[in-house]
Amino acid sequence: MTPRLRFAPSPTGYLHVGGARTALFNWLYARRHGGTFILRIEDTDVARSQEEMVTGILDGLRWLGIDWDEGPEIGGPHAPYFQSERLDRYRAAAKQLLDSGQAFEDEGAIRFKVPPGKTAFTDSVHGPIEFDNGHIESFVILRSDTHPTYHLSVVVDDIDMAITHVVRGDDHISNTPKQVLLYSAFGQTPPSFAHVPLIMGPDKQRLSKRHGATSVMEYEQQGYIPEAMFNFLALLGWGTGSNDELFTREELIQRFNLEGISGGNAVFNTEKLDWFNHQHLMRLADEEILARLRDSGLGAWDLGADQRSGKILELLRPRCRKLTDYPEQLRPFFEDPESYDAEAVKKHLSMPGTKEHLLALKETYSAVQWTEAEIEKALRALADARTLKAGVLIHGTRIAVTGRMVSPGLFEMLVLLGRETVMRRLDRLAHTL
Ligand code: GLU
Repeated sequence: MTPRLRFAPSPTGYLHVGGARTALFNWLYARRHGGTFILRIEDTDVARSQEEMVTGILDGLRWLGIDWDEGPEIGGPHAPYFQSERLDRYRAAAKQLLDSGQAFEDEGAIRFKVPPGKTAFTDSVHGPIEFDNGHIESFVILRSDTHPTYHLSVVVDDIDMAITHVVRGDDHISNTPKQVLLYSAFGQTPPSFAHVPLIMGPDKQRLSKRHGATSVMEYEQQGYIPEAMFNFLALLGWGTGSNDELFTREELIQRFNLEGISGGNAVFNTEKLDWFNHQHLMRLADEEILARLRDSGLGAWDLGADQRSGKILELLRPRCRKLTDYPEQLRPFFEDPESYDAEAVKKHLSMPGTKEHLLALKETYSAVQWTEAEIEKALRALADARTLKAGVLIHGTRIAVTGRMVSPGLFEMLVLLGRETVMRRLDRLAHTL
């Protein structure tokens, strides 16, 4: 039997990190076993516009590359299932339980009659779990407004959609006995359950806005790439048992299993996410980085797929952990500095004579052969001739070309900038001193 899994978000308008991780685990399991992954929007009690509340979730899933099977294809990819389109089905199911004496009417609502005894299930993450039915109150399955409650709709859908594995957040453990009881009332075997521990902030409190972005798409805006987010989320509460962490989507599909889900809460560590992002950015080809910078509106400069662009990217890659780090780092290759970092100027350029030293360097550079080695040699020779520390000229040149105190390898940069640009920038800085 090939597995069938689903992600069943309530429409919230955005895909939060916890939901994304749940979707990812279900998707990975389905893809690993050649099964089916369904997207079902649980929108039975939302009054707001369905479309607007759902778009954010679909955008988040698409960005991560989580695709779903089934659902109507209306001139494009599959649409998700919507519970709001299945209300009659839930009403019929409630009536079925009423007719069989397993439910009763109560002030216009229909309640499930909890039978005596115990309800047990085996959770793939937490092992055997047992609840005493005596602690479960007879619960509403159909409200007096004829809308189903979550318990009824989720069970009816999981039965109708032949779901074999339910992977969802730990917060649903206490709902599970009620659902297991409904399965038996309908004469069905429950799917297998895997309840995934929650995601915590670094302070070990449940992840929330207080900890920063919780919506997946906010991470896109912050310069994270989906490959990294995907990898990071997959390892949030799941592991291969080895120290390996850096995986492509394909590698994760090959490795994913429910046994690797940890029973302890996972901590969302932004530094770790940054690390993943950097690693995955390093693996992207130049053209790919350029395309993504363009697509996200970050690449305003004329970076083509030429040799110079390639060398610039090579120089910047180690320094750019996020796509959003690129514009600032790229700027000096295309624009003269608009201003100079005040602290840098104070620290490195306040010595009397600095202006003349920089102008002398400019003069030297008008004649030197424009290679990394020659540029550096000429600078050091000039420093010696003027009995200066080479650092004075190095810092000065860095500030002249970037406006800042830190930059990638200076001489590599100078070569890429070209003689004219470097001379012009030395001159400009010297004349502010
Ligand atoms: N709509 C529920 C939620 O978003 C789904 C829970 C489930 O997977 O059964 O939490």
